[in-house]
Amino acid sequence: MSIVSIDRWLEGHPLVQELVALKETAWFNPAVQPAAVALADVGLTREDVADVSARLGRFAPYIARVFPQTEPVGGIIESPIQAVPRMQEAISTRYGLPLPGQLWLKLDSHLPISGSIKARGGIYEVLKHAEDLALAEGLLSTDDDYSKLDSDEVRAFFRQYRIAVGSTGNLGMSIGIMSATLGFDVTVHMSADARQWKKDKLRSHGVTVVEHASDYSVAVTEGRKQAEQDSACHFIDDENSTSLFLGYAVAAGRLKSQVADAGVVVDAEHPLFVYLPCGVGGGPGGVAFGLKLAFGDAVHCIFAEPTHSPCMLLGVYTGLHDEISVQDFGIDNITAADGLAVGRPSGFVGKAMQRLIDGYYTISDEEMYALLALLEQQEGIRLEPSALAGVPGIARILSADQEAYRQRLQLSAEALANATHLAWATGGSMVPDDEMAAYLAKGRAALGETAQ
Ligand SMILES: *Cc1c(COP(=O)(O)O)cnc(C)c1O
Repeated sequence: MSIVSIDRWLEGHPLVQELVALKETAWFNPAVQPAAVALADVGLTREDVADVSARLGRFAPYIARVFPQTEPVGGIIESPIQAVPRMQEAISTRYGLPLPGQLWLKLDSHLPISGSIKARGGIYEVLKHAEDLALAEGLLSTDDDYSKLDSDEVRAFFRQYRIAVGSTGNLGMSIGIMSATLGFDVTVHMSADARQWKKDKLRSHGVTVVEHASDYSVAVTEGRKQAEQDSACHFIDDENSTSLFLGYAVAAGRLKSQVADAGVVVDAEHPLFVYLPCGVGGGPGGVAFGLKLAFGDAVHCIFAEPTHSPCMLLGVYTGLHDEISVQDFGIDNITAADGLAVGRPSGFVGKAMQRLIDGYYTISDEEMYALLALLEQQEGIRLEPSALAGVPGIARILSADQEAYRQRLQLSAEALANATHLAWATGGSMVPDDEMAAYLAKGRAALGETAQ
């Protein structure tokens, strides 16, 4: 991107100026269309998601066997939802704003195996690759009980194949642990922001971890390079993979059953707002695609990014998508929210989903820490910083600044009183105790400094 064009974006667009100044900001896209119109943009269908769901069902007996913690739920990797009324009250007080409706969390932080949203897409893509190879070799048929994959013979077969991925941490954890369990020879290219405990944990599973001194984009490029030179190596492409995307989308149909079981109504008069922390976009994009298929126009999806890494907001707002990075605008992509430390958005999510995502906002690291401590204080739930990005979403859309958005969507006071707000809590249950203690200490300090 040339300096001239950057200057042009800066001059004519106060929103871009705010992003560059690292201010918390929000943008609600006036080009959003009804699901019936815009779902066609995605190029993937309800049947594709059903196919993924069926494949995960076939693998369930295997998952239950190799990850015994999933046995009670039949080997299905899923997380609970939880209402957080005390947190809602505390946020209302913190922002000095009445917050009608009900705030819930989706606890992907507590997903088994890797403790983050990446246990959805990441694990799915590895399973799909394993199934393809085993079917082609005649080691497996789709009618089999897949727990037979837990054998030395099968592991020796997979050992001939390599898997590579670039990651800020959590994707590497999911792909690494799942691949190594199946028997694959797996390499994770970690960006500089990846936490040491994640690298240590992977190495203890026999995963090769390559540490890069630069950010996520470079880690991905290196992984891609490794795979290009090796026909037995499958590269998991977080920037472009539709398989990952579909793995995330399965969450929505399951969420539909969970909200129904909880007695929560979702329809035009009872809207559902879902706040999704966004890095490269595959996770939130895939979940949002599934949500639109499951709930249509009754669901409103909003993406949340760190003030230092607003790659999706910038890409969609400018229409330049993956042609630009936040660094092109002088934004450093340095954030404590390591799962969201991505400077350039996915090559397809922003384009495919832009007419289905209501809006985007940014949040400072300090606010993520403050909310991290507040959530632990109010509800006893411990999350990693990235996972807090969606929590203030309820206050963002209800703030006086967003009157135009609410009017455009014809959200009446009555509908807002009946609304459900779901913040996707994307990670944190596997953070080691000493690391969590440090997060909480930072959070309490941030809370103290900003108390009203
Ligand atoms: C990866 C990640 C996200 C965002 O997912 P993307 O696919 O990168 O957009 C959000 N939260 C956590 C904790 C993550 O690890």
